[in-house]
Amino acid sequence: QAGGEAFVTLATTDSYCKGAVVVARSLRRHGTTRSTVVMVTPNISEQSRFALKDVFDEVIPVDVMDSDDHVHLSWLGRPELGITFTKLHCWTLTQYSKCVFLDADTLVLCNVDELFERDELSAAPDPGWPDCFNSGVFVFRPSLHTHGGLLDHALQHGSFDGGDQGLLNSFFSSWPAGDISKRLPFVYNLNASSFYSYLPAFQQFGHNAKIVHFLGAGKPWSQREESRSLTMQQFVCLWWKEYLSDTTSSTA
Ligand code: UDP
Ligand code: MN
Repeated sequence: QAGGEAFVTLATTDSYCKGAVVVARSLRRHGTTRSTVVMVTPNISEQSRFALKDVFDEVIPVDVMDSDDHVHLSWLGRPELGITFTKLHCWTLTQYSKCVFLDADTLVLCNVDELFERDELSAAPDPGWPDCFNSGVFVFRPSLHTHGGLLDHALQHGSFDGGDQGLLNSFFSSWPAGDISKRLPFVYNLNASSFYSYLPAFQQFGHNAKIVHFLGAGKPWSQREESRSLTMQQFVCLWWKEYLSDTTSSTA
């Protein structure tokens, strides 16, 4: 399998496992030819693990505590970097030559295998600060060297937003002014905030969405009723349809 390519996501709680299931099913529904991989932490339930095994090609256990002693000790003093360190594990998946990371709160709306034509680090602009990329969807090359560099960077500089996005943006700092092919179109990481900040563009281009990202507090699987735009509400309905769909029919 060396040299293969994979879509990778992460779930550290049972709630995020629901999201991960939808990521895998929506990728399959749209006929991806790549492998699907989910990284999970040991705390998730047997039931969630079972549901993930059903829809992913690979379920890979990861544990922040597996990091080497230097990292482990430093991490104890920086518990806020826990989820970030867990996400960084994706760079250790060296059985693959190239991967696309998708947050567990994304929904794939069409075949997006063309993302593998891009190089590390390709990502779409963050709507809040477009000179930063959003780390919910990105193309990367697994490499233990890069993984080590990222951990060192995290320990030395922390993360300016406390999460993986701040860290990845300061590590891949050439992104905003560098190679334009590494700037993914916004439709690969569409989120509701553009509905508030640029409504006409959302209305004009929103239906071209390729990947929807439910970033922020109101995840589709949470009970919280959010006031959403009609388009966003339709995406949430689509999410539920995928979540409740039968695995066998979703491959059709
Ligand atoms: N994540 C997780 N458990 C958590 C928080 C985050 O597994 O408790 C993973 C999950 O894949 C999630 C990603 O980290 O999609 C980034 O977090 P989130 O999507 O909540 O951040 P947002 O996109 O809302 O900024
Ligand atoms: Mn997200």
